[in-house]
Amino acid sequence: MHLYHPIRLFLMLALIAPFQGCASANKRPTELLPTRSTYRTGPFAIHSHKAMRHKDPIVQELESLTREVAARIGGPMPGQDKTVDVYILADEPSFQHFLHYYHPELPSRRAYFIATEKSRSVYTYQGDHLMEDIRHESTHALVNLTHPGLPLWVDEGLAEAFEHPDRDKTPDPHRERFLSDINSGFKPDLKRLESMDDVRKFTPRDYREAWAWVEWGLIGPKDSTKAFRSYLDDVMRLGESESVVALKPLSTRWSEANPEMKLPQTAMLAWIGEQKQVGEVAAKAPVDIDIKQTRLQNSEVEKQSLETKRSTLSTTRQKQSMLGRLYSSLFGQSK
Ligand SMILES: [Zn+2]
Repeated sequence: MHLYHPIRLFLMLALIAPFQGCASANKRPTELLPTRSTYRTGPFAIHSHKAMRHKDPIVQELESLTREVAARIGGPMPGQDKTVDVYILADEPSFQHFLHYYHPELPSRRAYFIATEKSRSVYTYQGDHLMEDIRHESTHALVNLTHPGLPLWVDEGLAEAFEHPDRDKTPDPHRERFLSDINSGFKPDLKRLESMDDVRKFTPRDYREAWAWVEWGLIGPKDSTKAFRSYLDDVMRLGESESVVALKPLSTRWSEANPEMKLPQTAMLAWIGEQKQVGEVAAKAPVDIDIKQTRLQNSEVEKQSLETKRSTLSTTRQKQSMLGRLYSSLFGQSK
């Protein structure tokens, strides 16, 4: 029988505007990756052009993220000593040069995470979305260390859930966008998400649905969080073994978690709709979904401009690329 769950080589990519090209794309930059400074904290080795200090916001953000992720999903594993290299390039042109040189087969993105059997690396650049991007990709990296066998949709849902800085202080825009999807007639379908194993088919709406389910599992009602954590613990215990695919999927676990509970889809939607946005007056009545729709219509322009989302590319073998050769040498056969 073939492997149900081969080791995957992930490319976690943050989507931004299409590649604009750059004036000197045919010239190899003298220094493709920052090597001037390396700051180590937890599992991360942060490589940058400027020297990092403990009080640097990036260091603080990664330390905070590590604590949050560990508290919510468990880990790190005892004896875990694997490093995640975080490369922060100076600017977008430098980043595009790097991508163009090493990964010409890849679409242009704002940041990405590559995991191989031997290394885990986050690549991004100094820019307006640095914190969000570094949190998203670094969440993938942390999850890869502790829960390498997670299904794609959970992996992306976790990255979406943890990407938002100041989770406890400012509203997470995922919520409004997800509720807008619902108000437009979209119906969440967890079994559909569970069947998706090709991230290239993930739409921005799929990311938002993955976020909603994961958010419900992370901080929702007791029944949902208990089943979610139990699932994560099982995956962490099994690692990348083939047994992971034999686990009861979350759709089943949530259905069984409480026989009296409404269908998971209905319960999740009700909970998401009832959540107050951070910053709203505490005494205010729970948010009504219909009311949210009015607000969303007012922010339609913003919603459209933010429509581009991350994608995660699971590589197929790219015979002409360094990445393809790397994949072949490490794993033999692609999925
Ligand atoms: Zn991602």
